[in-house]
Amino acid sequence: MLNKLRQYTEANRNSSLELLKKYVSYPSVATDSAATHQCAEFLVSVMEDAGIPTTLFETAGNPIVYGEILSENENAPTILFYGHYDVQPPEPLEEWISPPFEAELREGRLYGRGAGDNKGQHLAHIIAVKAYREIIGQLPVHVKFIMEGDEEFGSEYLTPFVQEHKELLQADFVYISDGPLHESGVPLIVLGNRGVMNFAIEVETATTDHHSGNRGGVIPNAAWELVRLLQTMSDGRGKITIDGFYDDVLKATDLEEELIANIPYDTQELAEVYGVKEIPFDKHEFYERICFQPTLSINALGSGDARLVKNTIPAKAIAKFDIRLVANQDPDHVFSCIENHIKNQDIKGNVLVYKEGEDMLPSKTDARLPICFKVIDAVKEAFGGKEPIVLPVIGGSLPNAVWTDILKIPAISVPYANPDENNHAPNENIQVECFLQGIITTATVLYALGGKK
Ligand SMILES: [Zn+2]
Repeated sequence: MLNKLRQYTEANRNSSLELLKKYVSYPSVATDSAATHQCAEFLVSVMEDAGIPTTLFETAGNPIVYGEILSENENAPTILFYGHYDVQPPEPLEEWISPPFEAELREGRLYGRGAGDNKGQHLAHIIAVKAYREIIGQLPVHVKFIMEGDEEFGSEYLTPFVQEHKELLQADFVYISDGPLHESGVPLIVLGNRGVMNFAIEVETATTDHHSGNRGGVIPNAAWELVRLLQTMSDGRGKITIDGFYDDVLKATDLEEELIANIPYDTQELAEVYGVKEIPFDKHEFYERICFQPTLSINALGSGDARLVKNTIPAKAIAKFDIRLVANQDPDHVFSCIENHIKNQDIKGNVLVYKEGEDMLPSKTDARLPICFKVIDAVKEAFGGKEPIVLPVIGGSLPNAVWTDILKIPAISVPYANPDENNHAPNENIQVECFLQGIITTATVLYALGGKK
């Protein structure tokens, strides 16, 4: 079946690329409601042409496109494909070699905004379903698709949609292709992500700034008070010293430890990429920190005016933070721990702590689930036997809790784009080979789920 699939993909190379070019030509930046609507309607037509009955659902934001094909085999498992048809704004335009919304083929890559993030990747899923039915016939699994148009601005309308359509979306797992393959070109499978919560602390020690000579020594200094407070929150080595901060953090499972042991790791190379002197962690500790530990990062600090020499005692100081949450942590609990911690410190002046923006919850799929093994094996087969790197959790944040916590199904990410896809940057591109390999990988996963060998 793999051979037939490769032949089909090769024979239809041009028409697949033409379709992707057309899709990229829709300037579907989420803030442009007219353009996203047109793009969503085009996506509906692409899915219908591929034989997938599809509906466009209006939301308070941009439309959600949903399509499904149910297998004749009622007991077959259900795969839910998720993707997003909105794109990042293309600016700065002058840095693009060819216009962002006029896709151009150069040196084996298709350049255009959205080529990799995420149009090329979920189009590979759609073409794979069409290819499967043309070369093999009946699908061995029920296939469902959900594409949203607000991902690049935080997926605000996805959660309410999923909550309202739990039955429609019910599936055995969700399959997501976004982001790049591993730097080494080896396929990557990601089973979780950290969440994120933002908050700020303001310290106010007086109604106005004061002369540091006339009042120095008798007036409290907001900058010092904030610094003293910050020092009570961390041991300076990455350990957070707030009571309860680590309450619900789970230990890595044996299998997760094993998966991490298989990831290539070179501290010197990483230090160069990150632009730091050294990374003082062995592989185990590095991934322990990225995958399984929450962080408290100071994002910004402000007090006085650092551009001037001005002998004042600042009356106000502010710090902004993000917390990367790990699976099983509840942002409300963590925030109440921070509030309690601050209450218990002897800080002069008024201390205000408040949350900013929406929380994004952490998400994790248990690597021990049989569906994970099936997908890993199928991806390996599709890549000609190349062992995939399986990352239990990525450090960044994605909206995957909608699947794992609302639908309560596993979420498995298998990115298809090249590591230098330039997503969110000028000259975004997808290598033609990555796009075509994506079609093959998706179809191989469908085949494997049907239990056929
Ligand atoms: Zn993106």
